[in-house]
Amino acid sequence: MRAKPAAASDTGDPLLLTPGPLTTGKRVKEVMVHDWGSRDATFLKINAEVLTRLPEIVNGEGDYVTVPMQGSGTFAVEAMLTTFVPPTGHVLALINGAYGHRARKILDIAKRKVTVHETPEDTPPDLAVVEHLLKADATITHVLAVHCETTSGILNPIGEIAALARTYGRSFLLDSMSAFGALPLDAQGLGVDAIAASSNKCIEGVPGLGFVIARRAALEQTQGNATTLVLDLHDQWRNFEKTGQYRFTPPIHVIVSFHQALMEFFAEGGQPGRGKRYAENCRVLIEGMRALGFETLLGSNLQAPIIVTFRMPADPAFRFQAFYDALKERGYVIYPGKLTVADSFRIGCIGRLYPDHMRGALAAIRDILDEMGVKSLKAAA
Ligand SMILES: *Cc1c(COP(=O)(O)O)cnc(C)c1O
Repeated sequence: MRAKPAAASDTGDPLLLTPGPLTTGKRVKEVMVHDWGSRDATFLKINAEVLTRLPEIVNGEGDYVTVPMQGSGTFAVEAMLTTFVPPTGHVLALINGAYGHRARKILDIAKRKVTVHETPEDTPPDLAVVEHLLKADATITHVLAVHCETTSGILNPIGEIAALARTYGRSFLLDSMSAFGALPLDAQGLGVDAIAASSNKCIEGVPGLGFVIARRAALEQTQGNATTLVLDLHDQWRNFEKTGQYRFTPPIHVIVSFHQALMEFFAEGGQPGRGKRYAENCRVLIEGMRALGFETLLGSNLQAPIIVTFRMPADPAFRFQAFYDALKERGYVIYPGKLTVADSFRIGCIGRLYPDHMRGALAAIRDILDEMGVKSLKAAA
């Protein structure tokens, strides 16, 4: 089969089949070609619209507010954990990948007490164990879960976890970074106190802004909890209420660009529309890769339509770095694996990508395997 011409985004860049930052639309980048002062009325209006519209995506209008946090997604996660969990708090952290471990590390550094329920990267938390832990230990004040654990692409059962937190009267905190905007999330229904996400994942903005969607009544009670000045969500929020402005220099261009991305997100039909495109990307990718002979880490019942983990073929003719480089040359950037349970690599379905991009990537992969002389795509046992 002949090589396809190099694929590219609408600005001529390689397509990012990664967990973020992602391929973004042309307008999303174009709107940044201006200067604004941080007190510029046009900018403040754009910023206010971003903040008021984000809770709509998770059925949070009315009871929830958006508190933005300059920085990458982890800044928002750290701000959420260190603002919501008081020094006397105790967090039950549900971990099945790198982002769960990162949250735990944040809590350790902030000297918040943590109990960990860890399962392998291809296994959701054991709900019976979660219930037992909540029942047995009344000092646990918060439950932390990761919505889609991007390490593997696994979808965690946040509805069931939230229900347990409600039943036992504990506060539920969610890292929804890679799922926000792509998967349904009902903040009011779940009764979640805070959701952390960022500009550069499924809303398809550029990187530089994290945000936390917080239940106002819960946020009001967090004054004085923060362990740092900059990551104090309560203070950041109060300042917005008072002045409509950031306490410290905001990433203005990122926010203006994020606003454009958000308008395009709503024009695509909001979460249902975006989720449908990603699900189709994911379906095309998995069917095509399985047809070639690759094995996925997860079964379809656990697979979120965000990023897919493939097992590394055992055939010595398959050399990942050469495979990666050849794909990059054809315009497709994939991602190494991060698993401890199996040797793997990942291909993302999110960002400004369409099913035809996935078909293009599959054709390129087929070509490259031919060139490399790979005979079997079976993974090592
Ligand atoms: C991307 C991501 C984050 C944040 O990562 P940054 O590199 O700080 O943007 C946090 N949690 C999950 C689940 C993620 O996918």
